[in-house]
Amino acid sequence: MGLFSRKECVLCGGKAGLLTRYSLSGGEFICGDCRNRMSSNVDSIGSLTLEGVKVQIRLKEENNARYRSEFVTSRRIDVDSSHPIMAVDDTHGWFALLTDKDPDIFSFDQITSCNVDLKTSALSEEERKNDSGLMYILSFLQSDDFCSRYPKMPRCPMGCKVTGMRFEISFGPNPFNAKKVSLDMLPSWTLNKTEIEKAYMCANDLCQCISEYKSGSRVQAKVQAQAAPTAADATDQIKKLKELLDMGALTQEEFDAKKRSLLAL
Ligand SMILES: [Zn+2]
Repeated sequence: MGLFSRKECVLCGGKAGLLTRYSLSGGEFICGDCRNRMSSNVDSIGSLTLEGVKVQIRLKEENNARYRSEFVTSRRIDVDSSHPIMAVDDTHGWFALLTDKDPDIFSFDQITSCNVDLKTSALSEEERKNDSGLMYILSFLQSDDFCSRYPKMPRCPMGCKVTGMRFEISFGPNPFNAKKVSLDMLPSWTLNKTEIEKAYMCANDLCQCISEYKSGSRVQAKVQAQAAPTAADATDQIKKLKELLDMGALTQEEFDAKKRSLLAL
């Protein structure tokens, strides 16, 4: 068996080419297509067993179904309409990363930390002299006004330009076995001041949203919302009580008292 010997995918039996295959902990291979049936956020595929891969494929399918049927978007965090980042479901305390075709649903409880990774490079002599737009961005990113509005954002160093901005989320235990997800906030680097400002505001929104969940202020609102029964809930319960009354399991007095409390009379 040489280095270039033909390998087969243990899942689909298809060709697992040298450059596209992934090896598993038991020494088997899966092909690129089968890898893509798992979430792109699955880390360290080499440590998975064949059974672990099957679990991940099932999880991805269940996740897709859950996203379509149960996920209620309360708000979206986008750099702009062509660059969606995250959808938040306040009712369940979930979020979905929209940077993938099939969004993964995570719970805010699974996040351990987040930060903004700002990539910069030194300005050339030419840029220093000529680009007034660039100079605007730099003074904007270094200004006290900007830094007080976005306290969690890194300050751009003097004499540098922004070449990349990534929002990194670190995870504790989660079903996808994700350790860190890095979201690209500025995929096509540009000197456009508006785009950099939008990406910064979006990253700030993400920080804000995550810290609200971590501090419990959003979860609190959710619990309070659940504690207040809706009119529909009360009607349902009264119907059930009426059945119990008709069956003789409740007395008329018990029924009246329960009904009064459900209608908050
Ligand atoms: Zn395969």
